[in-house]
Formats: sequence, C-alpha cells, structure tokens
Amino acid sequence: MKIYVFGCNLCSIVCPVNNKVQTNEIKEVYACWSLDENVRKSSSSGGIASIFYADFIKNKNGSAFGCSYEKDLQLKFSRATTLKELEKFKTSKYSQGYIGNTYKEIEKDLKSDMYSVFVGTPCQVAGLKKYLKKDYEKLLTIDLICHGVPSQKYIDDYISSLNLEEVPDNLTFRGERDFFFSLYKNNKIIFSENSNKNTFFTAFLDGLFYRNNCYSCEYANSNRIRRYYNWRFLGTRQGNPF
Ligand SMILES: Cc1cc2nc3c(=O)[nH]c(=O)nc-3n(C[C@H](O)[C@H](O)[C@H](O)COP(=O)(O)OP(=O)(O)OC[C@H]3O[C@@H](n4cnc5c(N)ncnc54)[C@H](O)[C@@H]3O)c2cc1C
Repeated sequence: MKIYVFGCNLCSIVCPVNNKVQTNEIKEVYACWSLDENVRKSSSSGGIASIFYADFIKNKNGSAFGCSYEKDLQLKFSRATTLKELEKFKTSKYSQGYIGNTYKEIEKDLKSDMYSVFVGTPCQVAGLKKYLKKDYEKLLTIDLICHGVPSQKYIDDYISSLNLEEVPDNLTFRGERDFFFSLYKNNKIIFSENSNKNTFFTAFLDGLFYRNNCYSCEYANSNRIRRYYNWRFLGTRQGNPF
C-alpha cells in the first residue's frame, strides 16, 4: 500500500493543468449517429456516447462511466454495468460534474482486467490519464467538445432564485428541437424556458460564468487527449450494439 503524507505535492505533480497531457492532432473526422431513433431522440447530439457505452457493457462485459443529476440536482459521475443504468448518462449537462472516486473505480476495473469507457470533458479525461499514470489497452476515453462549464453553485443558485413551489428532481437542457432549460418533478415539467429567454442559458452560451480555469483551458482546441485504445471494434451497421 502506498501512503502519501500531507505536503507530498502529489496533487501538483499529477495536475493536468501543471503538466499538460499529450494530445493527438485530428487526422480524420466522422459524422455519425445512432441508428436507433429512440437513442437519437433521448440523446443530445446523435447518441454516439450511448453506442460506445452499450458496446462496452453488452459485448465486452465492461463498465461505463458518465454523469447525471442526482439528489438535490447535483451533477455527479458514476459507474454503470447494465444497459438500464446507462439511461441516466444521456444528454449534455451544462455544469461541472463531480468526479469523486471515479478515477479510482476505473483503475480498479482496469486492474481486474475489465474493459472500461469514460465519457467527460477533455480536462476530466486528462485528469484520469494523469491519475492512472500508465496506459491500459482496455480503457476507452471519449472527450466531449467543451467550451467551458459553470460550477454547480450557479445551477443551485439559479434554481433557488426561481422560487418554485415544488422542489425539482430533474433538469434537462434540450427540448426536441431546441435548447430549453427545463425542471421536472416526478417526470412532470414544472418550469421550462427557451434558451433565448432563459437567464442561465444566456450566461452559458455567452460564456459569462464559466469556472475561472475554463477561460485559459489547455484543452479547448481541436487536438484531442491522446488515446491508446485502437478502434477496431467500432460498429458497422451489423455491429451496432442496439
Ligand atoms: C459542457 C458541454 C459543452 C458542450 N459544448 C459543445 C460545443 O461547443 N459544440 C458541440 O458541437 N457540442 C458541444 N457539446 C455537446 C457534446 O459534444 C455532446 O454531448 C456529445 O457530442 C455527446 O453527444 P451524444 O448524443 O453522443 O451523447 P449524449 O447522450 O448527449 O451525452 C451524454 C454523455 O455526455 C456526458 N456529459 C454530459 N454532460 C457532461 C458534463 N457536464 N461533463 C462531463 N460529461 C458530460 C455524459 O456523461 C454522457 O457520457 C457540449 C457538451 C457539454 C456537456
């Protein structure tokens, strides 16, 4: 067992801001979407994340990591090993997700020789690579295109400023065709506003309230965090896990 003492500086040593993670230049670009209409409709941008997740769970018996709004609408990363558990990872959430013990859990799975897939912002993928310190062939990381996120506190404060009669238990940022800030209670919408009228969305899309570090993000460019996994398994029509 490794024991680290206070002041060991390990956090600075592995910090992906202090020590940039290597990136790859994009060589080829593909546009794709899920062939399953339900997956497309319930995802934000075509459902590719769900396809990778399902492949790792169904075909590789692996684990999948993503984020969802949990109790008190706190955005948190968690682990899934069943298709049912994957549902909550769907759609883009416009705030910083809490990583918690996720990197540790991924390392544990990889060390047990499991396949594992993580989807998150580029800085979160960079953090994971730094934490792991070595390559694992069974790990796939997918970094989203991200232009910055506000902290959880902005969501909390914005929702409480609405003075709603009921306490919401879910939040989405997309309608069927447009961006909407919508709050739910027991699956019923209790507040919904189009992005062009909504204060939170205006601040998000105009980049007014991101976390300070997002304004000097090392990873906000076209290069992607270096990945080591080869993409042989990538679906064909026949290979679509759905
Ligand atoms: C903060 C943010 C900014 C974005 N900015 C752009 C942009 O500028 N241009 C563009 O084309 N697309 C942007 N996107 C969209 C993003 O690229 C799509 O969500 C992505 O393409 C996945 O779409 P999907 O349909 O495959 O999966 P979806 O089902 O829509 O997304 C689910 C996946 O996204 C992950 N995810 C969702 N929210 C977050 C979050 N806050 N932090 C970490 N992971 C998260 C989930 O864990 C899950 O794996 C942004 C998304 C986010 C979260």
